[in-house]
Amino acid sequence: MPDLPPLLVSETLRKAHFAHGFSTRAGGVSEAPYDTLDFAILRDPERLRENQRRLAATVGFDPSRLYQTRQVHGRTLVVAQGAPADLIDQEADALVAEPGSGDAVAVRVADCVPVLLADPQTGRVAAVHAGWRGVVADVVGAAVRYLGHHRSDGRESSSSSREAGGFLAAIGPCIGPCCFEVGADVGETIARATSKSAIARRDDARGKVFVDLRAAVRAQLRELGLSDASIEDVPDRTRAGCTRCDAERFYSYRRDGDASGRLVGVIVAR
Ligand SMILES: [Zn+2]
Repeated sequence: MPDLPPLLVSETLRKAHFAHGFSTRAGGVSEAPYDTLDFAILRDPERLRENQRRLAATVGFDPSRLYQTRQVHGRTLVVAQGAPADLIDQEADALVAEPGSGDAVAVRVADCVPVLLADPQTGRVAAVHAGWRGVVADVVGAAVRYLGHHRSDGRESSSSSREAGGFLAAIGPCIGPCCFEVGADVGETIARATSKSAIARRDDARGKVFVDLRAAVRAQLRELGLSDASIEDVPDRTRAGCTRCDAERFYSYRRDGDASGRLVGVIVAR
């Protein structure tokens, strides 16, 4: 039995008994330059299957219940149901797993933000793929509102943002403000959709800004009604949590381009 891959976890989600994890490059079978725990879908089916099997064994779910989608930087949400193979070609950037299903939902990232959401009241969870385009499109809001609308046995309830008060969120490894340089116009678009705090630094001479996607996502979650204490950065907000800075631990598209593997954030319905 090989060693199980080391995953990064959220204390907040763990204490609420939600099985979940954020992968690193360690503990898989993929070969260079994608070494070793690559979750890219179309690259190497056999190694992918083994990596997924190890992920499932570590987190604690049935690998045949792992749901993913075709991610397109939009705001469409799908609910895990039917065969996972049918969902993988559907375009969506937010996935929900229903309470009691034991279903696992995952998003693949290499600099974009993986956000895991959980509702301790129902056991319902969501995995969200949020790059800057998804953040601007409000994919995080789509997921939080879905969880809010389905708090009472799948029946629609009148929702206010207050209902999101009990939700938990973990923001996983993504490109940090140290590295996420964009044009000033893109920076302004992100800040307008989230918060001024999304712009970490300006380089006016070059017309560039450095964007803090974690701060942007946190601002959105707070606006949606989550308390600051219920939102956890994994591993943290320093460069330790930046995919581009830490080549040993993380894949980064901005650093490695097409030679970049994919990390996952995964969470299981309770
Ligand atoms: Zn960095």
